[in-house]
Amino acid sequence: MKTAIEVILKLKASGFDAYLVGGAVRDFLLGENPKDFDVATSAEPVQVKEIFKRTVDTGIQHGTVLVLMNGSGVEVTTFRTEGNYTDNRRPDSVEFVKSLEEDLKRRDFTINAMAMTEDLELVDLFGGQKDLERKLIKAVGQPDERFQEDALRMLRAIRFSGQLNFSIEEQTLAAITNNAALIQMIAVERIKIELDKILANQHARRSIAYMNQSSLTDYLPSGGLFRTDWKNFKPTGDPLSGWLYALWWNRKEVPALAGFKLSNEEKKTLGKALEAAAIEEWNQWTFYRFTLRQLELAAALTGRGGDPARQKSGLPIQTQSDLAVDGRDLMDWSGKKAGPWLKELLEEIEQKVIFNELENKKENIKEWFLSEYNGNE
Ligand code: ATP
Ligand code: MG
Repeated sequence: MKTAIEVILKLKASGFDAYLVGGAVRDFLLGENPKDFDVATSAEPVQVKEIFKRTVDTGIQHGTVLVLMNGSGVEVTTFRTEGNYTDNRRPDSVEFVKSLEEDLKRRDFTINAMAMTEDLELVDLFGGQKDLERKLIKAVGQPDERFQEDALRMLRAIRFSGQLNFSIEEQTLAAITNNAALIQMIAVERIKIELDKILANQHARRSIAYMNQSSLTDYLPSGGLFRTDWKNFKPTGDPLSGWLYALWWNRKEVPALAGFKLSNEEKKTLGKALEAAAIEEWNQWTFYRFTLRQLELAAALTGRGGDPARQKSGLPIQTQSDLAVDGRDLMDWSGKKAGPWLKELLEEIEQKVIFNELENKKENIKEWFLSEYNGNE
């Protein structure tokens, strides 16, 4: 917060107008620590770059410059108004107010459309503070128009309902129901980002209930997966816990999520987590061969598996490279050339070590190897 105010003060010292806007104002009023800070200003990106030593062009085509200061970043965006003072005329204060108003009017929900001065004075033109108190997500202006302008806002409303544990205001919800089909116009990558946030959230079930109630679900690729009963869902903070739940309770495999364009890493993790979840009794080998993330996802899903982190850290080795022997040792001792036997034997040793049947010491393993294999193959 301090850094954001410092940025505002510096802009003002150079003759520009500047306010804290968006989610940071909302979170500040809620008494929470904002994740990121957005400043709206009358300064153009080039001017912002002149005023601050360290900046990154994160979205210059949208008028946004990231200002780096005190080890954190503040997104500084030029007021989004019709004509942006191209005649270089310094606008008077009435015009400043007009520009701020224009900027706020374009924002999605009343609670996201407030501004704050460097003295923490609130600019609240659409009743955002009142809606914060009433715990309501309410569109700025006509909800139908706003969702027709940008259909992603419907999913954002639903996401914020879970993130903040708020209700969606009646007219806004009605407009989501009316315009639900428009979500098909939005790139799935943007939808996926919102769904990930929904599924990672403590109050995910609230968002999913709204998705289903408004029928938005029906216009998502394989959105039918969200129609399942979510009463047993315990969000872990990992969005994959939600995707996994949807697959498991619909008895589907990972390809059922193809429409959401998950990354290969996500698909692999989900596939492995499904595999782990299907194992009734977890033993040391299970804790060894699945990653912690895969185990935690599966454990959250089935309620089995105890404390995977502790189980995993108690294992004698974490990976095959922790073994005291390698393929070269086995070839030396046996006098045989490399081949499929090597891989099999290494895995046999790995298992014996994992189950504490063999100590992970070179001489122990060699002794076992010689008595087991020498001469009888
Ligand atoms: P959080 O970062 O906690 O998810 P946020 O409110 O900061 O919440 P962002 O997506 O970071 O959300 O957007 C910052 C601000 O930009 C919002 O508070 C809102 O004012 C505005 N905004 C973002 N996306 C849209 C949109 N699709 N339509 C209108 N305004 C938007
Ligand atoms: Mg944000």
